Amino acid sequence: MSDENKSIHEFDFNLICEYFSSVERQGPGSPEVTIKALSFIDSLAEKSRIADIGCGTGGQTMVLAQNTPGSITGVDLFPAFVDQFNANAARLNLQDRVKGITGSMDSLPFQDVELDLIWSEGAIYNIGFERGLNEWRRFLKPGGCIAVTESSWFTDERPDEIQAFWHDAYPEINTIPAKVAQMQKAGYVPVATFVLPENCWTEHFYAPQVAAREAFLKKHAGNKIAEEFISNQRHETQLYNKYKAYYGYVFYIGKKI
Ligand code: SAM
Repeated sequence: MSDENKSIHEFDFNLICEYFSSVERQGPGSPEVTIKALSFIDSLAEKSRIADIGCGTGGQTMVLAQNTPGSITGVDLFPAFVDQFNANAARLNLQDRVKGITGSMDSLPFQDVELDLIWSEGAIYNIGFERGLNEWRRFLKPGGCIAVTESSWFTDERPDEIQAFWHDAYPEINTIPAKVAQMQKAGYVPVATFVLPENCWTEHFYAPQVAAREAFLKKHAGNKIAEEFISNQRHETQLYNKYKAYYGYVFYIGKKI
């Protein structure tokens, strides 16, 4: 299809995928934090079934696979990410127990009580934290765990500029105690909660984007949509640097009862 025949959304969407395919992570996080979250989950074995929902190209999935037994199914909406995910698994010789599939988190291809662990870094916001916790619960075995990262407020009050940004981007953002209460209400014991350190944003998410942005702008020189997209990304980075005392990502780990 030529670019002229694409809707703006479709064009945007392809550009966004292309941009984020060029970096290892599509959201804030780090190998250390994935391993720390994993330390709260016990009794995984070779036969354990794990799902990584909204896995992207699999930055965190490969770390999970290298630090736990069991087989992992990564699910992502975007086929290009899934292709890259499977290539990464093969490159690391993990293809026998790590598979990526295209699918949506609102209609997951799992059976009831099939899974020992549900993982989701920086992705549950796509259907909303509460909805995801409630809808995905049935796929877990009793005693199975869920571990997700979610943007959260660190304080009860915050400056108008950042409040307005998040109100627009993800109105479900809330404080840590509010999110923990939602987890408990959804039928999980809140096992652990911790704030992702700043380097998950600066070093692991934003820094690799500096070179990615330059290459992307060079490739799409003169493309207004591409330029606008990059300027939005830059704006988000600036907001984070200015307001990081007020919000960030938090790992929420719960156990199904
Ligand atoms: N987990 C990865 C990471 O931390 O690098 C990716 C996080 S990225 C911020 C969010 C991911 O959710 C993207 O890979 C996107 O394609 C995926 N996504 C968005 N909507 C989805 C849906 N309805 N079902 C499954 N995945 C979805």
